[in-house]
Amino acid sequence: MAGAFAREIVRNGGMILDATQATKIMIENGKVTGVDTWEGRTLHSKVVISSLDPQTTFLDLIGPKDLPGTFLKESAEAWKYDKWSYYTLHTVTKEMPNYKCDDPWANESLMTVVGFDSTDQIVEHWKHVMKGKLDHKLIGGHVTCESYWDPHLVRKPGGHVSFFQMHAPYDIEGGWEKKNKEVEAAILEKWHKAAPNMKKDNIIMTLGETPEDIAIRFPNMRRGGIKHGDYTPMQLGFNRPNIECSTTKTPIQGLYLCGASTYPGGMVTGGPGYIAANRVAEDMGLKKWWKPTKLMEKYIRTYG
Ligand SMILES: Cc1cc2nc3c(=O)[nH]c(=O)nc-3n(C[C@H](O)[C@H](O)[C@H](O)COP(=O)(O)OP(=O)(O)OC[C@H]3O[C@@H](n4cnc5c(N)ncnc54)[C@H](O)[C@@H]3O)c2cc1C
Repeated sequence: MAGAFAREIVRNGGMILDATQATKIMIENGKVTGVDTWEGRTLHSKVVISSLDPQTTFLDLIGPKDLPGTFLKESAEAWKYDKWSYYTLHTVTKEMPNYKCDDPWANESLMTVVGFDSTDQIVEHWKHVMKGKLDHKLIGGHVTCESYWDPHLVRKPGGHVSFFQMHAPYDIEGGWEKKNKEVEAAILEKWHKAAPNMKKDNIIMTLGETPEDIAIRFPNMRRGGIKHGDYTPMQLGFNRPNIECSTTKTPIQGLYLCGASTYPGGMVTGGPGYIAANRVAEDMGLKKWWKPTKLMEKYIRTYG
């Protein structure tokens, strides 16, 4: 019930905020002075580092009056969000998935691809996602048995938690409220085909996390976009998130960016945060307490 209510809020353009979420980045005379939080606290600071996308950072948390005109139009308003999202089916089972295949390591692999029989099928599945559809015959995704890698995830010894994840459209034909259970059933059918023990008597519980649920969990992942914004040529490399903020520094003094919408982009790479931390330390004259890794040293020698 709470989930359905939250989805309705997000569908109507609302957001679910937690207590510490920033509702405003404060600016005085072109410089950052701190943030206001949803619970009513004001945190004063001469530096604010935002891991949120340009529209959330500049339009929602700052507002047009404190932004240079061209920057507002060409950089903040022009930001394009991801065209696809993810659907995840979480399962709690008595036994871990036991795959029926020749590969002796399939059960212990970090990631097992299930449901795809050919490259053509992946391409077709992708075309459907782009059109806001999911064809149950075409779907496939990657599976991980998380409790195999981290047994602490299960309190009751012997049980397992796993997930199946696949690309999915945010706006699905028929709506997620209706489609969630149908998609879950289609995934379980494919999973069962690949791992015969993934059936009713083994499965204790399932939970489908739709693209709408991602947007609720992470309000910055708008439309369930896991990279905070599309990978188009104009939003990649030094253009990510835009030419003015290439180095993580923004046109507003003291405001930096450090998230997936910043170069080198999304996924759990730590890249944007690393670049921002270095930039802030250098701008503030701080002694860095971290050392670049060997690969990072090579990168700096090569690209400066
Ligand atoms: C279902 C799913 C599967 C994924 N799978 C993979 C994968 O297999 N491999 C991979 O590399 N990446 C994966 N990703 C992508 C990866 O998680 C993101 O690209 C990455 O988390 C981005 O990191 P970030 O620090 O920039 O932003 P986030 O991780 O999005 O962190 C931003 C934080 O800011 C908080 N926030 C939002 N609004 C405010 C506000 N107003 N004030 C204060 N805080 C706020 C959010 O709650 C969040 O905690 C996946 C993402 C999802 C959702």
